[in-house]
Amino acid sequence: MSRTGLWDSHAHLDDEAFNEDREQLIAQLEQDMDGIVNPGCDAASSAVAVELAKKYPFIYAAVGWHPENLKGIPADYLQQLAEWAQHPKVVAIGEIGLDYYWKENEPKEVQKRIFLEQVDLAKQFDLPVIIHDRDAHGDMLELFQKEVHGVQAVFHCFSGSLEMAKELAKRGYYFGFGGTSTYKNAKKVREVMQYIPKELLLFETDSPYLTPVPFRGKRNNPGYTEYTARNAAQVLGMEFEELAAIATANTKRLFKKIK
Ligand SMILES: [Zn+2]
Repeated sequence: MSRTGLWDSHAHLDDEAFNEDREQLIAQLEQDMDGIVNPGCDAASSAVAVELAKKYPFIYAAVGWHPENLKGIPADYLQQLAEWAQHPKVVAIGEIGLDYYWKENEPKEVQKRIFLEQVDLAKQFDLPVIIHDRDAHGDMLELFQKEVHGVQAVFHCFSGSLEMAKELAKRGYYFGFGGTSTYKNAKKVREVMQYIPKELLLFETDSPYLTPVPFRGKRNNPGYTEYTARNAAQVLGMEFEELAAIATANTKRLFKKIK
């Protein structure tokens, strides 16, 4: 076990924010973390995620097209994802989903179509999906109620309502908690954390973004998972070690290709 016993279930170590010191950082993280899952956001970042996973035993990859990056998506993108999906260290399809926040994103119907195509691919390879849902809670919930079946999922950096969380928890989906859960004004996120069964809770950073307190405003990195997890232990009235062990077991149950 590493120093913390934690997994960061969602970090973008491929991001250019890590170009300066990626190797040194990863050497430190190998001491501190049990593992890291690095999702891709398009072909280029998925390719780097797979390379990092091949190079470092404790790093795993997910591959997919993020809803912000769908302009000009190649016609054969599913074939490329399918190739990667067969690699033993590719543990999920993601991050994929809906993003209605940025007006320049592709229209809702396009986003939904490409999201559902990637969900189908995940099913085909018996992989879970990593969900990005920004300002699209209603449509996302409806998709999971009506169209998405037979695939396991984690709602990364969950920002929906308690009502939505109840619907998702009822169906056994997982929830990723990161830096936002440590922010003073994030009462809703902590309510969801307290409500859901502990067996559905994962920790993450979304590095280099969404840095937890007390480093908010600085570059995030997977090592800061510890601050989110210590805060969560306090919120839930649990020992840190106990909660870390539960979250790690959850991460390995969801991403079942993790060895
Ligand atoms: Zn992300």
